[in-house]
Amino acid sequence: MVADLHIHSTASDGSYSPQEIVAEALACGLSAISITDHDTVEGLKPAIEAARGTGLELVPGVELNTDWEGTEVHILGYYLDYDAPWLQNFFSKLKQAREKRVRAILRKLNDLGISLSYEQVEKVAGSGSIGRPHIARVIADAGYASSPEDAFEQYLRREAPGYVPRQSIDPFTAIDIILEAGGVPVLAHPGLMGRDDLIPEFVEKGIIGLEVFYPKHTPEMIAKYSWYCRKFGLVITGGSDFHGPGFDYPPIGSCTVPQRTVEILKLLSQKIGGGIK
Ligand SMILES: [Zn+2]
Ligand SMILES: [Zn+2]
Repeated sequence: MVADLHIHSTASDGSYSPQEIVAEALACGLSAISITDHDTVEGLKPAIEAARGTGLELVPGVELNTDWEGTEVHILGYYLDYDAPWLQNFFSKLKQAREKRVRAILRKLNDLGISLSYEQVEKVAGSGSIGRPHIARVIADAGYASSPEDAFEQYLRREAPGYVPRQSIDPFTAIDIILEAGGVPVLAHPGLMGRDDLIPEFVEKGIIGLEVFYPKHTPEMIAKYSWYCRKFGLVITGGSDFHGPGFDYPPIGSCTVPQRTVEILKLLSQKIGGGIK
């Protein structure tokens, strides 16, 4: 009875469809999973549909990408009311901002002599939320770089000539949005953020959990963030951050928490109110 609470699907930058993720989770014998796509909840309904009647619990989730003082901060939200019209509206605005950014990057690349069309990138992105990983693949496919990683390094990373900053929200707003939607806000992979000093501020704002169990966390980080959870009374969560084969993340079910954690998150979301219970 274990749960993997951090998984990406084709609705964002993962390579497995929500249905494939459900099939994989069942094959691994997991009791619950959460699909936590970047800035979108479009993968949730197909996953819930696919999991119906199988005994696998599908925890509605999302991972909001935010920026604070030059640091990327990811906020997970569980059991949020993903169907709320205002929330759908918020996500569609984020989507528009992503599309605008991709067009701006393509203009910069064009100035560098790399001519790619928006349609090419759109094709690679499929139903996913379009972004730099897709542009990287198109650059490599067109022969301007040896691999998507090389394309990212040469053109797309911060300070590279094709870089365009994101129009992003801040983590405090993200926490507000998740709470407003009746969800439980959790700070994703604090070890990657590298700004432990922000944790008390996030707690004050309403963060309810820390993603302690994460593939790239060292045993020392796990011990440290478990300590933070005890100190601030936070829920310990965890997940694989699975993106699909070929990505630098381990398989579904490789990083889990007990089913009890899912029950706690559900109870907390009921306390917050407003979400899908
Ligand atoms: Zn993340
Ligand atoms: Zn993630």
